[in-house]
Amino acid sequence: MSEIPQYLKEGFLSVEELKEYVKLPDEDRLRQRPVAIPECPQEIPCTPCAEICPTNAVLMEHPNALPVVEYEKCIGCSLCVQICPGLAFFMVHYIGEKARVTMPHEILPVPKVGEEVILLSRVGEEVGKGKVVTVIPREKSKGDTPIITVEMPRELAWDVRAVKVVRE
Ligand code: SF4
Ligand code: SF4
Repeated sequence: MSEIPQYLKEGFLSVEELKEYVKLPDEDRLRQRPVAIPECPQEIPCTPCAEICPTNAVLMEHPNALPVVEYEKCIGCSLCVQICPGLAFFMVHYIGEKARVTMPHEILPVPKVGEEVILLSRVGEEVGKGKVVTVIPREKSKGDTPIITVEMPRELAWDVRAVKVVRE
């Protein structure tokens, strides 16, 4: 019997495990413009990310295959992040010492543009504060979940995959 992957045992995909599934973009590409990262390690029959991509940057050998992004073709439109029912697509963009990470935001309330939010790591721990720079509300998203882009210290770009909104 094959070994159960760590992400199934632990309930989250670590950065180390992600790198086993996905060849991440290099720093030059991360600085050019936002780039989509598929964090989808399970071979399931699911293809919306590949179907919606306007530049055919998302490749799948067959409907059960893991999506692979051709980073040079990605124009950072975020449609794959919006449409993914598994909330498994993100975008990352390095800007100086900051990074902007685009992610689905499932939990209410939805933050506003300019709002400071608490950054949550892959395991849900609070790791710092960030600022929301764009919001695509649910009614304008191609999927069922709002999409937000959050600016944060660059060193957190691969760990933060959710935020918490705290209002007085
Ligand atoms: S961000 Fe847009 S262009 Fe890039 S992979 Fe996703 S759908 Fe395609
Ligand atoms: S739409 Fe999401 S869950 Fe489905 S194959 Fe693409 S990345 Fe995976």
